[in-house]
Amino acid sequence: MDATVAEILIPLALDQTYSYAVPEGIVLAPGDVVAVPLGPRSRVGVVWSLRLGGASNLKQVEGRVDAPPLSPALRRLVDWLSWYTLAPKGSALSLVLRLPGDAPEVARVGVRLAGPPPARMTPARARVLAVAEGGLVHTKRDLAQRAGVGVGVIDGLVDEGTLETVALRPEPVAERPDPGYAHPALSEHQRAAAAALAAAVATAAAPATSAPSPVILLDGVTGSGKTEVYFEAVAECVRLGRQALILMPEIALTSVFLERFSARFGTKPTAWHSGVSGRRRERVLAGVASGDVRAVAGARSALFLPFRDLGLVVVDEEHESAYKQEDGVTYHTRDMAVVRGRLEGCPVVLASATPAIETRVNVARKRFGRVALPERFGGRRLPDIRPIDLRADPPPPGRFLSESLVAELRATTSAGEQALLFLNRRGYAPLTLCRSCGHRSSCPNCSAWLVEHRFRRSLVCHHCGHAERVPESCVACGSVGSLVPCGPGVERIAEEVATLFPDSRRIVLSSDFPGGTERLRAELAAVAAGDADIVIGTQLVAKGHNFPSMTLVGVLDADIGLTSGDPRAAERTFQLLQQVTGRAGRGAKPGRAVVQTYQPDHPVIAALISGEAERFYREETAAREAAGLPPFGRLASLIVSATDRASAEQHGRALARMADPPPGVTVLGPAEAPLALIRGRHRFRLLVKTTRDVRLQDFLREWLIRTEKPRGSVRVQVDVDPQSFL
Ligand code: ADP
Ligand code: ZN
Ligand code: ZN
Repeated sequence: MDATVAEILIPLALDQTYSYAVPEGIVLAPGDVVAVPLGPRSRVGVVWSLRLGGASNLKQVEGRVDAPPLSPALRRLVDWLSWYTLAPKGSALSLVLRLPGDAPEVARVGVRLAGPPPARMTPARARVLAVAEGGLVHTKRDLAQRAGVGVGVIDGLVDEGTLETVALRPEPVAERPDPGYAHPALSEHQRAAAAALAAAVATAAAPATSAPSPVILLDGVTGSGKTEVYFEAVAECVRLGRQALILMPEIALTSVFLERFSARFGTKPTAWHSGVSGRRRERVLAGVASGDVRAVAGARSALFLPFRDLGLVVVDEEHESAYKQEDGVTYHTRDMAVVRGRLEGCPVVLASATPAIETRVNVARKRFGRVALPERFGGRRLPDIRPIDLRADPPPPGRFLSESLVAELRATTSAGEQALLFLNRRGYAPLTLCRSCGHRSSCPNCSAWLVEHRFRRSLVCHHCGHAERVPESCVACGSVGSLVPCGPGVERIAEEVATLFPDSRRIVLSSDFPGGTERLRAELAAVAAGDADIVIGTQLVAKGHNFPSMTLVGVLDADIGLTSGDPRAAERTFQLLQQVTGRAGRGAKPGRAVVQTYQPDHPVIAALISGEAERFYREETAAREAAGLPPFGRLASLIVSATDRASAEQHGRALARMADPPPGVTVLGPAEAPLALIRGRHRFRLLVKTTRDVRLQDFLREWLIRTEKPRGSVRVQVDVDPQSFL
């Protein structure tokens, strides 16, 4: 008998499914996308389960929606995501469910010669007929262009019956990548690594496979050819007729990367990022669901695409903290990629020159495999890294480049080579101070200083986007001309470089680059092509780019980030500095890096300079273990916020009182968050620390149920495995 009741999950912040009656004559299956009435509206939802039962008092499913059903693997991913992150199931579904929009399918029509010449011949018509001769099908626009006439002339000939219209097949959304298009000459290490990855792809595709598919760390220094190597795994996947997904940080998805793929496979991969919209978005979705699209390179949301037959997931730059989604459903892309791989039965490759400690420990525990590329391709050396002790070699007053750094820059530019100056601070100056009264410009909505952006002539809050014009006089004491910028941002460094090297071609690259992501991608390509002498950039330039003519990297302030309260501060700083110094010497010429620091003996800086990465990681891992921090213990934070401070604090206290932590669980706080105010909301944090054997999610769920529901403006946001502690 056919099911009479359907449990429908709706992509709204609801944690449960709703029961609807299945209308007679419709047979539904789990995963089907349907329309259902909810309140006064019709909503789209997904059939989560079906059963027999009395349905007379239930509202009816309105009907099926024309969208590919959600696969069992994707449905389980939604369940898993919501279980793990404590986000409502409906919110998790909304990441996965992308509905067909209302952009109509534009029918592609062509025209071809069909009937006798027109009664009235004109020179324009004669030109059209000459081009159309031979009976080939042209689009109207193409035919008009070739004949040098307006489209109206073509329409006239169609009306006369001289030309006829024919339907064209839709353009394919993507060409098939050809795994045999180019065969790179791999080094011996690269060949072994590629073979291991390809073997995992092949094993997972074999029909009799029962072993869980592996997660493999591809661990190789910058420039060792990780991309070339995982391309071979992609090639094997495509050869087997399956689909491959390459995840990367949004900004690493550059045309340079797409071209590299194209050089290997004869065509670009299908890109998926926030800029893909409208009709293109739908066609990609349809192509991914039908299996036509064989290789996707995408930012984190690509993880939720409805692949028909996923055979491989690559997570490039797996250590990247941008992979953590901080709003809404707070998932980590790398961890969810591992889950998706398990659910789909396909291998997952995590690529990095600086693998996260979590990943290293998973390798040590034999939960992940590891394939290593120990050296740079082509015998290229890693850059020599030299410290500049700012105590001994300080920049002149009001400047930020020491004389040694300036000398290095001079040597580089006069040799016609490219240099990168790295400072992880956007804008011109991180703080504006009144010299007369000491007033500091701060954001009205956040507990944060306003950052001066001189190109935009404004003071900007980096947390909420609040912007105001730089005032003429101090808002506190009224003094005119008393405001002074304190400290440097990249714009200020650019100004200093312009004074020192007026003839150089300079470019400032940071995430607030005017013109948005697309222009930024274009600028990164220009840098890679050598169209700049000195690049001044934030961490954005450290993310997996390949700048072949770059031979010098200068780190302006290596100490930024070492003093934050984040338990991963040391690891993050080490990774970032290693990544950014690794931009030097990836092309034919050797590279070098100089690092300005006040603390050359700090373990992070010392390890960077001596190249003793393994030692640093060993010590850092031991420290984490001793402190019971991830991955040796588990963390979750609860952020309680409200429009008034007292309500937020009160609810935080109520939560703490109700915690009743079992053995192995510690609840800390509430404490006012370091960013105590964001966008007008006051924030308090609680931190939950548990041993590894505790079922953290169960504890959190029961705790939240026990505590009274937040009222008024109070919100509680749960962040499992938090990456940010602000
Ligand atoms: P990684 O991702 O490990 O930093 P890439 O894959 O970007 O390294 O490779 C670094 C550079 O070396 C690139 O310019 C790449 O084209 C080149 N390269 C790496 N392996 C090979 C190879 N086998 N043949 C030719 N060029 C290679
Ligand atoms: Zn003042
Ligand atoms: Zn603000």
